[in-house]
Amino acid sequence: MHFRAITWLASGLLLLIFTAITLLVWRDHERELQAQLDQDAKRLQTAFEVAVGNLEQQMLALASLLAADREVQHLFDEGRAAVASEGGGAGGVNAKRVRAALLARVEPQWHYMQTRFGVRQLQFHLGPGVLSFLRVHAPERYGDRMDGLRHIIEDTNRDRQPRAGFETGRVQSGLRGVVPVEITDADGTIRHIGSLEAGTAFTTQLGLLDRQLGAGFAVLLKPEHVESSVWQEYRAGARQRNGCDCYLEASSRPELKEWMEQIPFPAFREHARTWLMPYRGSTLQVSRLPLRDYLGTLDARRASVGSVLIWRDVSALIERQRYSQLTLAAEALIGYIIAQFALLWLLRDTHRRWRLQVKKKANALNESEARFQLLLMGLGEGVYGVDLKGRATFINPTALRMLGLDADEVLGRDQHLLFHHHHADGGPYPHADCPITLTMTDGQTRHTEEEWFWRGDGSGFPVALTVTPLLKNGIRVGAVVAFQDISERQELARQLRLLASTDSLTGAHNRRHFLQLLEQELTRYQRYSEPTALLMLDLDHFKQVNDQFGHASGDKVLKAFTACALRMLRRSDQLGRLGGEEFAILLPDTDSQGAHELAERLRHAVEEDEVASDSESIRYSVSIGIALFHHDDGSADSILARADHALYRAKHAGRNRVEMEPAGAEALNQ
Ligand code: GH3
Ligand code: MG
Ligand code: MG
Repeated sequence: MHFRAITWLASGLLLLIFTAITLLVWRDHERELQAQLDQDAKRLQTAFEVAVGNLEQQMLALASLLAADREVQHLFDEGRAAVASEGGGAGGVNAKRVRAALLARVEPQWHYMQTRFGVRQLQFHLGPGVLSFLRVHAPERYGDRMDGLRHIIEDTNRDRQPRAGFETGRVQSGLRGVVPVEITDADGTIRHIGSLEAGTAFTTQLGLLDRQLGAGFAVLLKPEHVESSVWQEYRAGARQRNGCDCYLEASSRPELKEWMEQIPFPAFREHARTWLMPYRGSTLQVSRLPLRDYLGTLDARRASVGSVLIWRDVSALIERQRYSQLTLAAEALIGYIIAQFALLWLLRDTHRRWRLQVKKKANALNESEARFQLLLMGLGEGVYGVDLKGRATFINPTALRMLGLDADEVLGRDQHLLFHHHHADGGPYPHADCPITLTMTDGQTRHTEEEWFWRGDGSGFPVALTVTPLLKNGIRVGAVVAFQDISERQELARQLRLLASTDSLTGAHNRRHFLQLLEQELTRYQRYSEPTALLMLDLDHFKQVNDQFGHASGDKVLKAFTACALRMLRRSDQLGRLGGEEFAILLPDTDSQGAHELAERLRHAVEEDEVASDSESIRYSVSIGIALFHHDDGSADSILARADHALYRAKHAGRNRVEMEPAGAEALNQ
């Protein structure tokens, strides 16, 4: 599941990256194409503008040539004078005659200009303002004023400067070159007569451009512009109403007319624009530039008078573009598929390795688990685990054997309630005091030898246990308890203690241990002041017993004496062998009278006692000295000394006697 999610995620990411890169490159291609199209459109526009500029210069040159002709100057001057004298406008007969002479004079040049340079208009204008004197291209129309219409002529007539530009007249619109016509009189003065204008249409030039550049060119004029200038009968072609509301001034290709009928043309705009247009299964790039006339070139704020249309078939370019884009898409797709396969392979391989590693680790873990189980099984110690709620999580066979329980009875159960519920003395053992609970609370390892576990059958045994906190990823999750049954060890210790404190022959306390008990009793006495007595006992003439019956029999007597004494004593009384045949008895809670009575009874019992020997029975006796504990006794020695002293007196008085210490310790010390 996890792996599948990663695969999906990585594949999605890969797809995203590929798509993003492809789109970026795709857009780059589009931009490149657009740049190419823009550049080509610009080139065509520039070519058009250069061609127009050249044409205007040509018109200027031709007009200048003719204006420099002296005969032309004279005839035009004559005509000017005739019009002036014959009432202006068309003038009279003189004017008519001169006009015909001028026409005849320029006719050959006119024909040459028409055929050689595509000149379409040649016209003489009189100033000031604009008065048509002779239209060589339409000789029947003359004498009309065009003030406010033919600005280029008006301006040239005013300042006698040659000018060129596009302007629409009464008969035609065209690219015109206008030069002032002047005459130098005999006295050398230069007189201005009027202007000569040569004009041409776009048509021939557009065809030339088309052939050179492989693009269609057309000039369209706004209807209001044409209709406000050109006489009705001279309006070239019909006003186009379908698609483009305009007059088609010139076009290098006939197909344009067809479009105009079919395709809605965008409205005139005052800035250049280029667009793509489907046409008969191919794609055309169309540029439309505003066309400015002479006035428009002087004042950029004036509206254009029409537009120039430039179009070319860019299907091949677009096709190439589409092809390269398709190639790109195909390449990207193939690249993506390869990358996707590589990714899948990589992920699968990584996943396989990872699973292998996990498996290896699991195996290692299993091995270690098996080793751990083996260790637990074979361990001489009882071991079990508890969770934080005190429930047993595992337990080894040794522990079960010691507790007399089955695993089923232990696992998942509260181990404290199960076998740790009471102290050895039967007192209840609250959870909170248990070292296992404490370790789980504070995380400290604990070792104690004073615990008590209860078996399934209700019996108990002392245990030494070690509790170690159990951590998982650094967090406490429970504890491990290792324990041993220490009943044998405790028994051994008890025996050792006994051995170290007991006289091996008689079983009475040995001297060292007895003196310890004596010191303890003295401490107790000094605290509670209960009357306490010490008897010092020495068998009489024991040397003789030995001598007479042998050392072994002497030992028998020593044992017999011990047994006899122990029979007479209370549990709290203590009998010690101080050395040889010398004994002492410590009597807690016993006053002088009690001590004396006991001593007497003991002396009697000994007197009556018979010890069987090889040959005959042995009779023996004992002398006893009694001392009582005093408050000023600093140590056991002083009590011993007083008892010894009393014993000495008993011996001295004949043996087989009881003697009490003299009353008052001070008396004794003297
Ligand atoms: P008295 O009445 O003055 O006490 O005379 P006594 O002979 O008992 O005293 P003494 O101190 O002269 O002798 C003590 C003897 O006890 C000497 C020693 O051989 C004997 N004796 C000491 N320890 C043992 C023992 O462990 N076993 C035996 N059989 N005899 C011992
Ligand atoms: Mg003796
Ligand atoms: Mg002795």
